[in-house]
Parts: sequence; C-alpha cells; structure tokens
Amino acid sequence: MPKELLLQVTPEIAANESLLKDHLSKQIKVSAQEIQHVSILKRSIDARQKAIKINLKVLIYLKGEPFQETKIELPIYKDVSNAQEVIVVGAGPAGLFAALQLIELGLKPIVLERGKDVRGRRRDLKAINREHIVNEDSNYCFGEGGAGTYSDGKLYTRSKKRGDVTRILELLVAFGASEDILVEAHPHIGTNKLPKIIEDIRNKIREFGGQVLFETRVSDILVKNNEVEGIVTQNGDKIHANKLILATGHSARDIFELLDKKKILIEAKPFALGVRAEHAQELIDSIQYSCDFRGEHLPPAPYSIVKQVNGRGMYSFCMCPGGVIAPCATSPGEVVTNGWSPSKRDQSTANSGIVVELKLEDFKPFAKFGALAGMEFQKSIEQKAWHLAGETQKVPAQRMIDFTKSKVSADIPKTSYVPGTTSVELGQVFPGFLTQIMRQGFQDFGKSMRGYLTNEAILHAPESRTSSPVRIPRDPMTLEHLQIKGLYPCGEGAGYAGGIISAAIDGEKCALMIAESLK
Ligand code: FAD
Repeated sequence: MPKELLLQVTPEIAANESLLKDHLSKQIKVSAQEIQHVSILKRSIDARQKAIKINLKVLIYLKGEPFQETKIELPIYKDVSNAQEVIVVGAGPAGLFAALQLIELGLKPIVLERGKDVRGRRRDLKAINREHIVNEDSNYCFGEGGAGTYSDGKLYTRSKKRGDVTRILELLVAFGASEDILVEAHPHIGTNKLPKIIEDIRNKIREFGGQVLFETRVSDILVKNNEVEGIVTQNGDKIHANKLILATGHSARDIFELLDKKKILIEAKPFALGVRAEHAQELIDSIQYSCDFRGEHLPPAPYSIVKQVNGRGMYSFCMCPGGVIAPCATSPGEVVTNGWSPSKRDQSTANSGIVVELKLEDFKPFAKFGALAGMEFQKSIEQKAWHLAGETQKVPAQRMIDFTKSKVSADIPKTSYVPGTTSVELGQVFPGFLTQIMRQGFQDFGKSMRGYLTNEAILHAPESRTSSPVRIPRDPMTLEHLQIKGLYPCGEGAGYAGGIISAAIDGEKCALMIAESLK
C-alpha cells in the first residue's frame, strides 16, 4: 500500500523531485533508491513565519508496490445531432459547461454567442488597448470563453461542494490544463493557456453534434403563455426550442433591459465596486514573504485582505500577481478595469480590485429604473470616470496616499494599464460615502500589510464589474425562472455564480435540471 504523508518542506525541496525523495526517505526511514514514485496530492504555501514552508500531502510508492500513471479522460459523449435541442445563450464558462453536460445527457446544445471566437477576439482586445475602440460584441467580457478567457484564470471558489469543483477541474485537465490545478490550493491557468482549452471545448461540442454560433447576438426571447418558444437574433433569425439556458454574464445590459421591458421578473442585486490598485510585485512579495527577494522557488505572491469600515466590507477582489490591468468596457462612453496574468505571472506588477460592498439602499438615486437601479448606478460611475479621464479608454488614476489625503497626484507613473491614465482626484468619481470608506480602508490596509499604503501604488477607477447588478430569480429546486417555463437563468449574469468555476458548476446544474424535466 502506498504511504500517505503530510509534511512541511522548504520551497527548494518542494521544487526538486530528487531533493524531495531524499527528504522523504529520511522521514520514512528507507533509502531514496527504495522510493519508486511520489505523487503530490495537495500543495500550499505557509507564509506565516519568516522561514516560508510548503505544505505537501504526498503518496509514496516504494519499489514493488503497484503504481500506474492515471490519465484523466473526458466523459463518454454520444452524438446528439438528432437529439432534442436546447438553446444556450452565451459561451462563457456557464454556457460551455452547460453545453458539454447537455451532450453527456443526450441533448443537443445550440450555443449562441454575440462575440467572436477566441482568435477573432484578440484583434478587438488590441483595438481597445491601442486605439481606444470598444467593440460592443467582442471585448474582454464578450466573446468565446466569456469574461474569464483573457484573465488570470484563477480557479478557486468558495463553493463548499468539493465534488462539483473537482469535476470541473478534471474536465479542464482533460481539455489540456496542467494537472497542477488539481493539486494547488490556489490553482490558476493564465491568459496564454485558457484560449486553447476553450477552443478544444468548442471543437468537442461540435464534434458530437452540438452547434456553436459566433457573432450571433440574441436580441429577443420568444415567450407565449409564459413558456419559452425560442429566440430572435440581431439579424432577425428565429431559432425555436422550448428549453433555454440564459448564461449571458454580468455585463449583458441589453439582456437585462430586454427582460425588464418584457416584464420578465428580474431584481436589483447588491454588488461591490471600487478601484484597481497596482503595486510593484517585488513590494507585495516582500510584504507577503517577509523577505527582500522572493528567490527562484516561490511564486509571485498573491494577497487577500478584508476590513470592515463604517459597517461595510472593503476587500481585495480578483487579485492578479505578476499581472496587467485590462480595459474591460463593453460600450463606448465608459471605462472599466479588471486584471489578467500570464500563466507564469511574470509581469513586474501586482494588481487587485479593492472594492466596497454595496447595499440596495445605495441605488436609491436610481430608483426610477426599478430592478435596473443597481445597473444604472454602476453605469453612471463608469461613464463619469470615462468623462473625467478625457473620453477615451484612459482611466482616472491617483497615487494611493494622495487618494487618502484627497490630493490630486502631481504625476502618475506608467502603469500596466495600456490605454493610459489621467491624474484625477478619485473622490470625484465615486459617491461621497464610497470615497470615505475607501480612504479609511486603505489606511487600515496599510496597518495590516506594512508597506501596502504607499504613494508608489496607483489606483485606477473604476473596478465595477465584480458581480451582476441584477438577479434573474429562479426556482431553487428546478432552476427554472419563477414565471417563465423553459427559461433557465444561469451563471454569473443571473446572480448564481461568481467566477469561472462556480459559473461552470451552475451551467452543469442547469443542464442536469433540463434533462430531469424531460424525463
Ligand atoms: P460570462 O463569462 O460573462 O459569459 C457570458 C457570455 O455571454 C459572454 O461570452 C457574452 O459575450 C455572451 N453574451 C452576452 N449577451 C449575449 C447575447 N445577447 N447573445 C449572445 N451571447 C451573449 N473569474 C475567476 O474565477 N478567476 C479569474 O481569474 C477571473 N479573472 C477575470 C478577469 C477579467 C478581465 C474578467 C473580465 C473577469 C474575470 N473573472 C475571473 C470573472 C469570470 O470571468 C466570470 O465570473 C465568469 O466568466 C462568469 O461566467 P458566465 O459564463 O456566467 O458569464
């Protein structure tokens, strides 16, 4: 029987197979030659003490013990070309994993995506970065793979259902992700690796008889007697089906407006909003690892911080070590920030959303928009930021200490945000209560993370697409919309996920419930 062991080792030992075998041989009192293979089951960093340690859970196979490399395989898919059709709107993680699950269950997904495929999308990302041109259908939020395709690809979630999480991670591995994501406590994939995985998922859907249509924006949902009958595309084409998974993400404002106009029940939902802060990665490493230099065996350090200020949570969101700040607007006339990292996280800067939780009462000035009040609040800040920074994709920016002192920064150094920045007192961008919380919050952060509060850190505004400003309510058991039969609100846009993994899990759940309803 292989021996399971929990241990702590130095980063150097954890990074070197032969050193690890030597270390283990002493622990279990056998010679290193006796150890046939060591499987790493879990890996995490313990940076609580000055001497950083790596926690490992390993399985040790001695010579003579049966050991076989296991390869994670895809489920067995059947051809669904002639099966019952289900419309899936949106090819983000929710839509794509719903489509795969539908095929597994013998149903035919027709995936409709307003954006371009991952390759076509790249040109539009270049245009927003270099020419300040926002394509309303193809950008950092819209297009094949959804909002997470050109991201850091962090794959952790607060979901307590480990089985669901493992299933999605294993599917990603079967589609080409590194097996490390099954082992790391905080796995991530990276912008350079995700697009190929997404492409392979799309090819698999098509290979087994599903359809994936790009540049196909759904502009209407056909409903009769409170039952879904199909959709209409922007060209006026109709596609009929009485099961529809609506997985259009948190930025599909036209879909929220459509539902509202059609009197299909939606609700305003609180979300969080703030800025994206950028520090030198070296500084974050030195704070998190208590060292001058990270060395070659530790990854660029992430951070996670939360404080209560005036009764509200202010916290880091979607932190990207070794990453870049991206322009994530989905319409001209607005600016939005978020972040991405390559798989090695080897850029010189660390960025993170620093956001404050909002409450429904904050949307009161926009009450006339009813269920869209939160969305209009969000839009107004993005538009104000666009205006204040000069009506391009430049964003308003301020040095961190200057922000806490309401002082316009005399200059803003070059940051990773390619379209550029304009020095603006960020108090002008946000409502007073938010500015006040953030001013205090950054000072509190500086007390917990010594060195974090520095004028070398640059704040970019706004970080506003943290989660959906709208919920599309559904029955918790059947996952069908509360009013409309056959409509399955799904993923982040509907308010049931936050992140790649939880969106993918929700996609699978909706597919399962559709199959259940057809029994
Ligand atoms: P989305 O991914 O938003 O997908 C919705 C899809 O629907 C889009 O492709 C859109 O084009 C399409 N669509 C919208 N309207 C229509 C329409 N009318 N017709 C047809 N198609 C339509 N999460 C993480 O877990 N880890 C990260 O590291 C991470 N980094 C991120 C970095 C960036 C830059 C961004 C923008 C997001 C990041 N996120 C990250 C968040 C993550 O991407 C989302 O939580 C996740 O993608 C939500 O999945 P979804 O399928 O519900 O929606």
